[in-house]
Amino acid sequence: MLLKDRIAIITGGAGLNGLGFATARMLAAHGATVAILDLESANPAGAAAELGPGHIGLVANVTSKAQCDAAAEAVLKRYGRIDILFNNAGITQPRKTLDISAADYDMVLDVSLRGTLLMSQAVLPSMQRQQSGSIVCTSSVSAQRGGGILGGPHYSAAKAGVLGLARAMAREFGSDGIRVNCITPGLIATDIIRGKLTEERKGEIAEQIPLARLGRADDIAGAVVFLASDLSSYCTGVTLDVNGGMLIH
Ligand code: NAD
Repeated sequence: MLLKDRIAIITGGAGLNGLGFATARMLAAHGATVAILDLESANPAGAAAELGPGHIGLVANVTSKAQCDAAAEAVLKRYGRIDILFNNAGITQPRKTLDISAADYDMVLDVSLRGTLLMSQAVLPSMQRQQSGSIVCTSSVSAQRGGGILGGPHYSAAKAGVLGLARAMAREFGSDGIRVNCITPGLIATDIIRGKLTEERKGEIAEQIPLARLGRADDIAGAVVFLASDLSSYCTGVTLDVNGGMLIH
């Protein structure tokens, strides 16, 4: 099995329709043991139970250094190692530039960008001790094309920040055998877009996509399994577009 004996942490993984949970399911199907981290309101323990025995759910708000560190500690205590981190937690807000408040800015950047830094900081020391690990960070096509579908400019900025952070960490930790890569999803049908786009608008967007459909959560999960596993053993600092061809560059 591709991920036999690997221990994986997924942030924001409790939403059963989300990219995190789809990835948890696929990592587990390939043999990994998964720790799902999410806000208390999202019920990470319930999501982990859906995966089957042996997996765990932990409450952790990725904007809190103490909670990220405590979650990593709990995973290490239970399983003894951390092989994979999928930095997936993120929120979006439809805003125009002139309408972004300081609180909006903090909220959106804190989850995607600060959260990616804090959770990476929480797992990197153990990965350094192991001299191995794979971190997959979630950017967005919004960072590359300047938004324009759902999120505001602060969302594009947060996701562009994730790209820079991931590339810099890839450079810094390569000599420790730790790979850091990014995925840039296009428009994927999850709760994050629910109620925000009409069926008509979704149809118009799909017409512009070479693969002629919106993405599915499993499209992302497959890309993360690739980056998490030894199949991608010589890939670090990579940005993997998973967008159906929405942006070809
Ligand atoms: P989602 O809303 O279904 O899932 C996001 C998860 O993050 C939820 O479970 C939520 O509870 C959790 N979360 C929110 N704030 C958190 C915090 N402070 N700490 C811990 N967990 C927190 O969204 P999704 O579509 O599955 O998106 C997953 C990731 O993919 C996000 O980073 C998103 O920005 C990114 N993304 C999504 C799309 C898309 O079209 N769906 C496109 C590009 C990028």
